[in-house]
Amino acid sequence: MYRKNIWKSMTPEKNTEIVGFCEGYKDYISKGKTERLCVKESEVIALKHGYVDLNKVKSLKPGDKVYVTNKNKNIALFLIGKKPLTEGIRILGAHIDSPRLDVKQNPLYEKEEFALLDTHYYGGIKKYQWVTIPLAIHGVICKKDGTTEVVNIGEDDNDPVIGISDLLVHLSADQLKKTANVVIEGENLDITIGSIPLEDTEKDAVKANVLKLLKEKYDIEEEDFVSSELEVVPAGKARDFGIDRSMIAGYGHDDRVCSYTSLKAILDIETPEYTSCCILVDKEEIGSVGATGAHSLFFENTIAELLSLNGKTSYLDLKHAMTCSKMLSSDVSAALDPLYDSVSDKKNNARFGHGIVFNKYTGSKGKSGSNDSEPEYVAWVRNIMDSNNIHYQTSELGKVDQGGGGTIAYILGKYNMNVLDAGVAVLNMHAPMEIVSKADVYEAYIAYKAFLTK
Ligand code: MN
Ligand code: MN
Repeated sequence: MYRKNIWKSMTPEKNTEIVGFCEGYKDYISKGKTERLCVKESEVIALKHGYVDLNKVKSLKPGDKVYVTNKNKNIALFLIGKKPLTEGIRILGAHIDSPRLDVKQNPLYEKEEFALLDTHYYGGIKKYQWVTIPLAIHGVICKKDGTTEVVNIGEDDNDPVIGISDLLVHLSADQLKKTANVVIEGENLDITIGSIPLEDTEKDAVKANVLKLLKEKYDIEEEDFVSSELEVVPAGKARDFGIDRSMIAGYGHDDRVCSYTSLKAILDIETPEYTSCCILVDKEEIGSVGATGAHSLFFENTIAELLSLNGKTSYLDLKHAMTCSKMLSSDVSAALDPLYDSVSDKKNNARFGHGIVFNKYTGSKGKSGSNDSEPEYVAWVRNIMDSNNIHYQTSELGKVDQGGGGTIAYILGKYNMNVLDAGVAVLNMHAPMEIVSKADVYEAYIAYKAFLTK
């Protein structure tokens, strides 16, 4: 069961490929700080690779490349294979949402001559990790006249950043007695955004000045926050980590690292036997809910559209296509942390530099909420990896009863298709700065390519 460290057998040629690939990835996550931005960036890359909007297509034949977006927050790409769709699709599914702080609908207030934005955190975070770091704000403000203002503050070197204050250590005697889950309260994750009062204004003059600036820049009124979607995220670009540059530090590796490697995999293969699909979904971190989460009928509807372009419109054709499909649920795994190794069963835990990670099951307690793949399918995937000399490892999320988590695997499993969780190991998962190994990022990419072409 020994798994080799990829770096031990590294050749200069492979190292060059890994470094080149990871530069592309760093650029992708530095631009893709929100799900909307990931969709936009993915669409730009897909267009460069000859993909065309499915809505502009009248028929489909092997080798055709089409994509479709959904509400600016999902994108699905298809490379049409030689076999009919009813024989199944090879699917790579990843999520492009990441934990963050969302601006509330009535967010702006003034206190002690500071202007602040009230937030509601999104996904599972350790709140104390998000204070006193430079933050950026991205998103959209949709106005009643149907127009949308795009907000992007804090990424350009000349931009200001924003952030959350924390009590100075000198006066923290009471605060430091609190347990870590309440030392920073959810309602205290408020963003400081200004301190200059508007002249000739008596009440809430600092808030008034912020509103004046927003009016000048975006032509919005305070009420327009009601229909905004503003996400506060760590500011700055992804960068190399470690003096050997073997790792990447960045925000949102979970799960943009599997999104990018899945996207690149479908872009870099020739016409496959079975139609290939890469789908990037939203809202995984809050339960895959809503119109743009994995539970949405968007994917099923899109497959129905593809089938209808080949004259197949029956319910059974759709059900056959779904049931015969095979999927890798491209999502990250928890890497073994040397400082906290006691929470892991080391022989069943992912390690940096040991390749793509397969989780037969995730979940918590007695595997609750997991997909728990069929062993026949795990064997089929193993065979692909070994016959292509791809480094892989298996993992589960920590020791039994230590905690847990889930992915979108079970949602597609509902269609009776085979699904296995497969992705990249991450350190500091859900922290503002997550870490991945470059060797693992590249290995996931070649593993995904091998899966699509089997
Ligand atoms: Mn994830
Ligand atoms: Mn996550």
